[in-house]
Amino acid sequence: MPPEPRFFNTLGRRTEPLAPRIPGRIGLYTCGPTVYNHAHIGNLRTFLFEDILRRSLEYLGYQVQQVMNLTDVDDKTIRGAQEEGVALDDYTAPYIESFFEDLATLRIQPAHEFPRATEHLAEMIAMIESLVARGHAYEKDGSVFFRIASDEDYGKLSGIDVDQVVQGDRVASDEYGKDDVRDFVLWKAAKAGEPTWPSPWGAGRPGWHIECSAMSMKYLGESFDIHCGGVDNMFPHHDNEIAQSESATGQPFVTTWLHAEHLIVDGQKMSKSLGNFYTLKDLLELGKDPRAIRYLLLSVHYRQKLNFTFEAVEAAAAALRRLDDHRFRVEHATEGGTARTAVGEAAATLQADFAQAVADDLNLSAALAALFGFVKETNRLLDAEGLGEGDRSRILSALGDVDRVLAVLDPGRWERPSSDGPTDDEIQAMVEERDTARRERDFARADALRDRLAELEIVLEDTPDGTRWKRGS
Ligand SMILES: [Zn+2]
Repeated sequence: MPPEPRFFNTLGRRTEPLAPRIPGRIGLYTCGPTVYNHAHIGNLRTFLFEDILRRSLEYLGYQVQQVMNLTDVDDKTIRGAQEEGVALDDYTAPYIESFFEDLATLRIQPAHEFPRATEHLAEMIAMIESLVARGHAYEKDGSVFFRIASDEDYGKLSGIDVDQVVQGDRVASDEYGKDDVRDFVLWKAAKAGEPTWPSPWGAGRPGWHIECSAMSMKYLGESFDIHCGGVDNMFPHHDNEIAQSESATGQPFVTTWLHAEHLIVDGQKMSKSLGNFYTLKDLLELGKDPRAIRYLLLSVHYRQKLNFTFEAVEAAAAALRRLDDHRFRVEHATEGGTARTAVGEAAATLQADFAQAVADDLNLSAALAALFGFVKETNRLLDAEGLGEGDRSRILSALGDVDRVLAVLDPGRWERPSSDGPTDDEIQAMVEERDTARRERDFARADALRDRLAELEIVLEDTPDGTRWKRGS
């Protein structure tokens, strides 16, 4: 039996066992991108955390239904379309495509549904009507606002003091005429030059928060299991989602809320003015390996700030090289004699410890420690006595098993980075390492390095003064 997962629930701020509404099944809603630009690596950190969450739940035997919205109408997309003088759909289409490319590049599994706000106006309008009918919302000059005073436990997610509430920038405009400054907009009356849709309150467009409530409930039901986002979504977005949803249905909206911490760059908040703002495409252009980026992003616990540096990308690439070298050794080792009991034991330990780690609020450091423990143990075995019949496939299948969550272990499933590959210093280090291995009569290691260098089209020449090398054509 796989271990029972436990998560730190932002709602209530405690770690508690996951309690799915339907045993064995999880409804998962993850706030998606606003498609007015290319996703930056801070956004992608959150999407990658959600990928690890879903893969971990699947690994632990759950059937997960994931829904991620695409915010294709809001102040930012409208402004962008106006500035370029194109229709909203034409403006957002390339950014939607770019987002899907980024997911594929980082091997983030696509959600089962990617509902777009502009295709769910009917659901949003129906929900706003129900809020008006129940006395939780009111119309003013063609706009509709949620009445915060009507919701006794408003702010229970973030724990914000309701009297201090000032709604965020997404709802800052068009708000004169509200009964209470704290109230937030559900429907915005038409403004000149903006795309609009008909509604019972006249032409207009939806507010941002109502999108997620209407679309999550359409695909996952009035109550569902897990809702995720970045910490910056917690207030006001997620508090507003809870207020709207629970006021409209009278039912609890979501059981478990999970939030990913910020990504910072070189210890500072990422910003264009500091010149430390990166999209995934920027990093690929700089020759960074997407596989190392995935490894780096998953290796830091989602509730800790992640400090992104180029040194950290290099360290991730070095960790992957160790894993690749191990795989290469295993793939090319000869098998002789009966299967080694140590291989079976190491595989069982890896499986148990890895499952325990991901079930513990996605403790990826412990999961990676279990993986490197397995690598060390099987390397030791290769050095000492070699593999027995069937050991190779046992080791590779143990790696394949944990790679259902990590999705970084098999280099064959990744495209090569667009750069020219390793630097001269890195090649020199590999060449020297091979010389050392040969001196120490570790021929398996030396051969593995020779083959890797051959793959990189490095030509080796053994001379009395040591090995020389050059890049092949
Ligand atoms: Zn959302």
